[in-house]
Amino acid sequence: ALSLRDIRKSFGDNQILKGVSLDAAPNEFIALVGPSGCGKSTLLRILAGLESADSGEIRIGDRDIAQLPAADRNIAMVFQSYALYPHLTAAQNIAVPLVMRKLTRSQRLPLIGSVMPGQRKAVAEIKREVKEMAVSLKIDHLMDRKPGQISGGQRQRVALGRAMVRRPSIFLMDEPLSNLDANLRVHARGEIVELHRRAGVPTLYVTHDQAEALSMADRVAVMIAGDLLQLAPPQVIYDDPQHIEVARFIGQPR
Ligand code: ATP
Ligand code: MG
Repeated sequence: ALSLRDIRKSFGDNQILKGVSLDAAPNEFIALVGPSGCGKSTLLRILAGLESADSGEIRIGDRDIAQLPAADRNIAMVFQSYALYPHLTAAQNIAVPLVMRKLTRSQRLPLIGSVMPGQRKAVAEIKREVKEMAVSLKIDHLMDRKPGQISGGQRQRVALGRAMVRRPSIFLMDEPLSNLDANLRVHARGEIVELHRRAGVPTLYVTHDQAEALSMADRVAVMIAGDLLQLAPPQVIYDDPQHIEVARFIGQPR
């Protein structure tokens, strides 16, 4: 389970996060919504360790990870821009986190080219894991192509695959579908929920699209100006908004 206690963050005189607390169950999918500039991405970046909080606790299970460097947090984050490695194939892109974990420094580079004796077992294992991920994302047939040779939706799946092979203990996504066209977006919703289920870890999913939040999330977190005002199942947020700001935000025409 994921637990945030009183996370605060200011940039200069601007208080961006005003004491955010949140508990996510081990299997829970939480959509984080709120007006532009309310602090959603800042919160995710703090969880991922890309930014430090001024104060507050971040717990995964009974471990406080707030002081751990990003690389030790075992958190996967997918952004709006996927930043795949353009010179690597889809398979190699997905393999990167596994290569970093399973091969020693001197072994890493040759993987991109030929396989050296002594690393065959690790490499075979990596290939098997990449293959499994590719099959489950239905991009198995694209594994030898480079990012420039596949569609936006396919690139997004490669990015998801790269995030998932690490078997993260939390999954963070910041508007991962916003570069896709409407059809692909609707299709990708189901795939992301499916990935989340299979991973069985808490997921925080930032979106501007309320239909996405409603259809994907177990609970919706509404953040307004750095305060998490309500965290409830979608139905409850709509039926019974607890703050006028929440009602205003949820009720606005899109
Ligand atoms: P959007 O929906 O537009 O992505 P958001 O909710 O993700 O918005 P954040 O990116 O978290 O918003 O930004 C919250 C506020 O913090 C904004 O006013 C932003 O300008 C400010 N901010 C974010 N990062 C920095 C920074 N590194 N230095 C100064 N101000 C920052
Ligand atoms: Mg943002």
